[in-house]
Amino acid sequence: MGREKILIIEDESAIQELIRYNLVKSGFEHVRGCETGEEGLAAATDWQPDLILLDLMLPGIDGLAVCRRLKSDTRTHSIPIIMLTARGEESDIIVGLEMGADDYLTKPFSPRVLVARIHSVLRRAAGAYPEEESQTLRRGALAMNRGSREAWLDGVPLELTFSEYELLYLLARRPGWVFTRNQIVEAVKGSDYPVTERAVDVQMVSLRRKLGPDHPLIETVRGVGYRFAQE
Ligand code: CA
Repeated sequence: MGREKILIIEDESAIQELIRYNLVKSGFEHVRGCETGEEGLAAATDWQPDLILLDLMLPGIDGLAVCRRLKSDTRTHSIPIIMLTARGEESDIIVGLEMGADDYLTKPFSPRVLVARIHSVLRRAAGAYPEEESQTLRRGALAMNRGSREAWLDGVPLELTFSEYELLYLLARRPGWVFTRNQIVEAVKGSDYPVTERAVDVQMVSLRRKLGPDHPLIETVRGVGYRFAQE
């Protein structure tokens, strides 16, 4: 634990210092900070961090442009990114997630939440949630078998429509991962099966009703999309 290299790209030095202090305190030994997108891109390429904390509001190249460049460069595209955003930047958050950023935090965030998110993203990146289609996927009370397209909650079969099954499987494969509506549409739509962002919302309502109030497995991320609750 703590061997991973974390790169912070954040122009406000007080925030950068606060993040660095909390990461070091929680055991991360290799933390580096940059104040501009240009420096951040260079450091990402040369230093090869295991995770990048990326402020979206940067002077010069802004955070979204940095994200786009990182994700389109084979040397950096697999490095997980957590975006640091201000309140009200939902449209930027959606763009960033669709470009491949892994998660985001809205300022001000608590150090405890920051560290928890970093661990969660690092676990995902390390393949802690393998996608074995032949196996039964288990997430707490939920079990899903991809092959037979069956799902169970506390051992009781769930009666799901085709698209409800697809939606639930998509989210459950990656707990804590925020999916935008557009990403969900892209992932779920079949060639002969039109899905719209509005239809996603409608199906989520139906899916939640079938899961019942005792199993709030699907969380709405206001203004952004949906995610499967972390265990
Ligand atoms: Ca900033």
